[in-house]
Amino acid sequence: MKKLTKGQIKSLEKLFPKGDCLLSQEECTVFGGDSSGLFALPEAVARPNNEEELVELMRFAQKEQIAVYPRASASNTVGATVPILGGIVVSTTKLDKIIEIDENDFIARAESGVITGILQKEAEKKGLFYPPDPASRDISTIGGNIATCAGGMRAIKYGVTRDYVLGMRVVLAGGKILELGGRCHKDVVGFDLMRLFVGSAGNLGIFSELTVKLLAKPQETATVLVGFSHLEEALKASQKVLLQGITPRAMEFFDAQTIDALKKAGDDIFQNAQAALFIQIDATRENRENELMLIKKVLKNFSCLFIEEAQEEKEKYFWNVRSHISQAAFELAPNKLGMDIVVPRGKIAQAVNAFKLIAEKHSLNIMCFGHIGDGNIHVSVMYDKFNTAENEHAEEAKKEIFQHTLGLSGSISGEHGIGLQKLAFLDKQLGKNEREYMQAVKDLFDPLGILNAGKGW
Ligand SMILES: Cc1cc2nc3c(=O)[nH]c(=O)nc-3n(C[C@H](O)[C@H](O)[C@H](O)COP(=O)(O)OP(=O)(O)OC[C@H]3O[C@@H](n4cnc5c(N)ncnc54)[C@H](O)[C@@H]3O)c2cc1C
Repeated sequence: MKKLTKGQIKSLEKLFPKGDCLLSQEECTVFGGDSSGLFALPEAVARPNNEEELVELMRFAQKEQIAVYPRASASNTVGATVPILGGIVVSTTKLDKIIEIDENDFIARAESGVITGILQKEAEKKGLFYPPDPASRDISTIGGNIATCAGGMRAIKYGVTRDYVLGMRVVLAGGKILELGGRCHKDVVGFDLMRLFVGSAGNLGIFSELTVKLLAKPQETATVLVGFSHLEEALKASQKVLLQGITPRAMEFFDAQTIDALKKAGDDIFQNAQAALFIQIDATRENRENELMLIKKVLKNFSCLFIEEAQEEKEKYFWNVRSHISQAAFELAPNKLGMDIVVPRGKIAQAVNAFKLIAEKHSLNIMCFGHIGDGNIHVSVMYDKFNTAENEHAEEAKKEIFQHTLGLSGSISGEHGIGLQKLAFLDKQLGKNEREYMQAVKDLFDPLGILNAGKGW
């Protein structure tokens, strides 16, 4: 990829005359990293205020063969926004308008830089509900969520971001606008090009506007916290709950290391449990009590240490504890290699047991927790990066965790994607033919490879 010349910098300043083109090293530094901790300095940052400016920028970048890196809130944890080859970071944070929320069509239309949590709250004001709920909802954007096909805790009942995308306007490399889908809840005409863009991580185009499906807001929620002496018992109990025909809104598990980290951070709701489940339901007022009764009846067949039910403030408190896990992890060690692997649902216990053996082999603390209903396990290898031996062991453990996951017909990422951090493992999961067809898709939409250049395509 070519470096920006003085002439190109001048042209860029002309395209963004109102200070929305940043060039100083200090300003560009802010846009070089993301939640992965990885960093590369961009040569320039452009902050389009509308779709027209985005189109102009993409025309210019294609003509001049300059790499462009789409970036929203940079909350991704894998280096997906890091401008590894320099070029221009395109920040979407100024595309922040909710265009409409329509309670007749059950849709919301928004610019791509709208914060997801704000969209959810605005929908709720109209009695509506946008179910995808990544833990980063209050910082991440709808565009970033769609570009990563964000998951979250409600996926077990409501699916992931992909299941709610109805329409999009995408600006392609070269500036062409592609309008896909619309506001209909069904559409099977032609190939489903729109789904190609969901999860494409800024490699195929930049969304300017998005339309998502909404549901009616559920009336009531309740959460059951269950403590166990053994993780296997917790996993068995969770399977039995699902087999009763109850689909919880969220079902999360915590292993002994995760509970230990939370306790050390001051969140002690787990008593003496070595494993725990959070089971959350949402229902009408009438159905809630029935569902809770059924869940408790199932749990009675297992050796639970305690079963605690929570609603309203107490329920909020429980879920706040869940959202503290990322920070609490650092009570165990100063550094973390975070993975979000997925295995077939029936193989969670097998996977976690194998990860515990890997932890023992390398004398490391490995925390396993996460979304039990879709087999998506967050595995955090905790270590001290300034301890050379531990650093090596952590990297080795990461490789073994990925290998083992693939051996169980799993996937190396269920939510966070590949970015730079897992690039070395991409070809271990994708077959040759699959990879070639994916490359052909990339070449079709971005023939010069300027979009998110250096990220494997
Ligand atoms: C505390 C924390 C909790 C998290 N919890 C979850 C979780 O529960 N579930 C989950 O799935 N993820 C989670 N994440 C990861 C992250 O929040 C998601 O990947 C999120 O979708 C990224 O959104 P963003 O707006 O920050 O996008 P960014 O990080 O800025 O970008 C992410 C990717 O999307 C591309 N992109 C951004 N905007 C556009 C656009 N308009 N058009 C095209 N491409 C674009 C970028 O190039 C990049 O490849 C969490 C992260 C943190 C820090």
